[in-house]
Amino acid sequence: MNPIRIGILGYGNLGRGVELACAANDDTELVGVFTRRDPATVHPYGENVAVWPADELAAHTDDIDVLVLAGGSATDLPEQTPAAAALYNVVDSFDTHANIPAHFAAVDAAARETGHVAVISVGWDPGMFSVSRVYAGAIMPNGADYTFWGRGVSQGHSDAIRRIPGVVDARQYTVPVPAALEAVRSGANPELTTRQKHTRECFVVAEEGTDTAAIEEAIVTMPNYFADYDTTVTFVSQEELDRDHAGIPHGGSVIRTGTTGANGENTHVIEYSLKLDSNPEFTGSVLVACARACARMAAAGETGCRTIFDIAPALLSPLSADELRATML
Ligand code: NDP
Repeated sequence: MNPIRIGILGYGNLGRGVELACAANDDTELVGVFTRRDPATVHPYGENVAVWPADELAAHTDDIDVLVLAGGSATDLPEQTPAAAALYNVVDSFDTHANIPAHFAAVDAAARETGHVAVISVGWDPGMFSVSRVYAGAIMPNGADYTFWGRGVSQGHSDAIRRIPGVVDARQYTVPVPAALEAVRSGANPELTTRQKHTRECFVVAEEGTDTAAIEEAIVTMPNYFADYDTTVTFVSQEELDRDHAGIPHGGSVIRTGTTGANGENTHVIEYSLKLDSNPEFTGSVLVACARACARMAAAGETGCRTIFDIAPALLSPLSADELRATML
């Protein structure tokens, strides 16, 4: 069987993760990377991987089976995914949860009109966490859902701190409160406020001579980002930040607790948990498994947009149906 020919649009952290995931799978081959920057400045790991300008997207439709979009959710993907779905079968990791229905509609229209398959909002959240929430809710109607994130770096919160005057650089970690996790895992079904579930730890490099107390105040009172959390701010040097906080770890747990029995006397706890050394490399791995499913759905003549809920598990796996029945059931 010929490998699935993959292209990547946007070569940041996630783009690199997608490239590594292509190399880790025998049935996928990365053909080329599209970038909006000068292609001469973008260097994929693979020597044979072409780098093309993003405005030549339409020129390689014969070379690529599935285009994986690795741009940012805030401004890149709302434009790039519908445009790319008019040319290619596509996969993206769009993670602005509230806007997923609108994004789905735009991508679905473009994919249907041109006969392509698009898979959107895959990764771990949305993605693998979403699958876990659906399975758990379907199995246990009498219960409650909990999602804890971290310990991990939140890029959005780190960016928000960097925009404060006097801040040179910053890293923000989201951390689950151990007591809250314990209470949920016990099956006690606690009602938890935002503040009770997570804390936020900020490591900040300030300009020399800046009023660090004012920066700290600006962080801990920032609405939507920090005001609803217990937030700690630690000022560090750029060297310390680069040395101790260079990685992009993340993870978390999706938990549903519920009861069965005539009087609800039996308690059950379902938990799906991730501990990721590298958020983009894990997310890239999910995207490539979904690219495999996307290629298979396209080969079967399907068109239109899909989310992780529409993809049967067997479509994600490199194993055949016989192998899956023999080894995974
Ligand atoms: P990056 O900021 O690293 O990359 C985003 C884009 O920025 C790239 O595609 C690249 O496009 C552009 N870019 C511009 N300048 C540079 C530069 N100097 N170096 C690298 N890239 C540059 O974001 P991430 O890759 O970390 O994340 C992308 C998105 O993935 C996030 O916005 C998030 O929405 C999503 N995500 C989803 C997850 C999920 O679970 N669903 C989990 C993790 C992330 P170009 O090459 O065209 O310049």
